[in-house]
Amino acid sequence: MVSFHRPVVITGNWKMYKTIQEAQSFVSQLIPVVEEDDVGVWLAVPFTAIYSLAQEVQKTPLMIGAQNMNDASEGAFTGEIAGKMLKEAGASFVLLGHSERRRLYHEDNAFINRKVKRALEAGLRPVLCVGETLQEYEAGETQHVIQTQLTECLKELAAEQLKSLVIAYEPVWAIGHGQSATPEIAQEVQSFCRQVMAEQFSSELAEQLVIQYGGSVNTSNAKELLSQPDIDGLLIGGASLSLESFIQIVNDSKSKIQSQG
Ligand code: PEP
Repeated sequence: MVSFHRPVVITGNWKMYKTIQEAQSFVSQLIPVVEEDDVGVWLAVPFTAIYSLAQEVQKTPLMIGAQNMNDASEGAFTGEIAGKMLKEAGASFVLLGHSERRRLYHEDNAFINRKVKRALEAGLRPVLCVGETLQEYEAGETQHVIQTQLTECLKELAAEQLKSLVIAYEPVWAIGHGQSATPEIAQEVQSFCRQVMAEQFSSELAEQLVIQYGGSVNTSNAKELLSQPDIDGLLIGGASLSLESFIQIVNDSKSKIQSQG
């Protein structure tokens, strides 16, 4: 019997950092490290850098994506961007529901649900971010919060439509604080995410779904986090801004593929 292994995907989230020039210089040095049939390396970059980076990574396995998009296909929404514009610029994926968007720009699950649908329509892979706040964690509400976010953000979608979905579990209390969740905590929640997806969609979808962990991942904890069976990849903010750290994490992640044989 051939055993199935989920892909390992390492995504950098650059947030509002890096000019086009800085981004191009980073990517040109990253390209030689990224190999075919190995760890997937994705970069969620500022809108301004998408087009030029997408050109630069053509014929390489590197994927360029966006950090947000609007839920409409077009319209009078000053300052917003549509999925089809990102796709045309060369984006392959888009982060949706990041906790900074939820907290600072009041995005709710219904809005995120409309964005997921629009991203799929535009041919972008949605990377749906879910995670509980510190208060919710301390109140023992993690599973309830995660279940609600998954259910509401993926409402009215069917398993067949979600084959390209990636889920990123990002406990809000771990993002940008230098203190990641322990591998055991992340594993427990990510296994729960898979269970919810199996119950709500199908066990086939849940089995093949890439679920990333994000929240203060760095060169010291990446390998241990990835050693957990339900952690298929990492979503990395701060440590993805340094070429040296990001390359080290990408190289460390190769051990997950090697351990799968
Ligand atoms: C993020 O913003 O998605 C993130 C995980 O940030 P950091 O790695 O800096 O905690």
